[in-house]
Amino acid sequence: MVKSVYIHIPFCKSKCKYCSFISYTELDKIEEYINCLSKEISDVYKGEKLDTLYFGGGTPSLVPTGLLNKIIKIFNFTENPEITIEINPDDVEESYLKTLFNLGFNRMSIGSQTFDDNILKLIGRRHESKDIIEAVILAKKAGFKNISVDLIYGLPTQTIRGVKNDLEKFVELGIQHVSTYGLKIEEESFWGKNPPAIPDDDMQADMYIEINNFLEKRGFYRYEISNFALKGFESRHNLNYWNNNEYYGFGASAHGYLEGVRYSNECDLDKYLLNPIHPVTFNRLTAQEKLEEEIFLGFRKTSGINIKEIQNKFGIYFGSKYKEILDKYKSYIEKTPAGYRLNLQGVLISNLILSEFLSDT
Ligand code: SF4
Repeated sequence: MVKSVYIHIPFCKSKCKYCSFISYTELDKIEEYINCLSKEISDVYKGEKLDTLYFGGGTPSLVPTGLLNKIIKIFNFTENPEITIEINPDDVEESYLKTLFNLGFNRMSIGSQTFDDNILKLIGRRHESKDIIEAVILAKKAGFKNISVDLIYGLPTQTIRGVKNDLEKFVELGIQHVSTYGLKIEEESFWGKNPPAIPDDDMQADMYIEINNFLEKRGFYRYEISNFALKGFESRHNLNYWNNNEYYGFGASAHGYLEGVRYSNECDLDKYLLNPIHPVTFNRLTAQEKLEEEIFLGFRKTSGINIKEIQNKFGIYFGSKYKEILDKYKSYIEKTPAGYRLNLQGVLISNLILSEFLSDT
């Protein structure tokens, strides 16, 4: 039974230099977009009770609360759903956040990235560090008790000391969750064509280790390769992805996974507005592909993969089928009561290790 929905809001006031997400600056089309979105949802959604609903972007906080409400009202929910919205620190007002909270949003993800004002400018963010502080204070005042912040590491001119400084400020603000992103220069981004000098891979790895050490000393734990939370504040929505469960994806460029089919929607805004109903790509997963995804996604979690579940779903004995790889990487893969997981050193070379599992399946 599907219990999660992702909704993509593809609008931003401007484009950050590292960003390769689909987003448009034609804010005058937001209302028309929400109308199309509501059409798409009504046509596809079968009324399941949702455990998680996530508005991502783009910048969902550009959407007026009345229009967000129009979308939320379509869904049915379990008793205690997690409803998340991503917000940009530069466009939040107290009354807006209060209304969001009253509409049922109970988790906020703030696109903060760093506290270094020079770097924020360099990467094309519209906000300054003071706006992050303001956003967290206002969110708490509005009633939010589950607040996540984004941190990008490996940015131009960034140092390990700078990353630590960012984390200190975040923790002082009393947030519950940190999502980290190691900067990769994507071809489709502004920097894809004009690449800046960035810290090398070794420095990025050192930053990642520092993030782990710092946050773990302050009560956060890494529950997924890039995500840290206080106990009880793990993102239920993202765990649904990593647990390889199905979900609806609505909106331009959204991806979904339903009845064994991974699909993606039209990316072009105008084409989506003309016909919001039909996904443009479909991939019905073979049993082999499902197994690969189970392994790939499972190893992202600190709890790792569950060999009993894999045996039940795919009829294979993980330990014997992959013995060679498990032996080869025995200093990077740990046994857990339920299966196997990557240790911190294993996470640093996870691409290499996981590619071996995939080519071996
Ligand atoms: S990083 Fe976020 S705010 Fe910046 S352009 Fe991309 S989606 Fe928009």
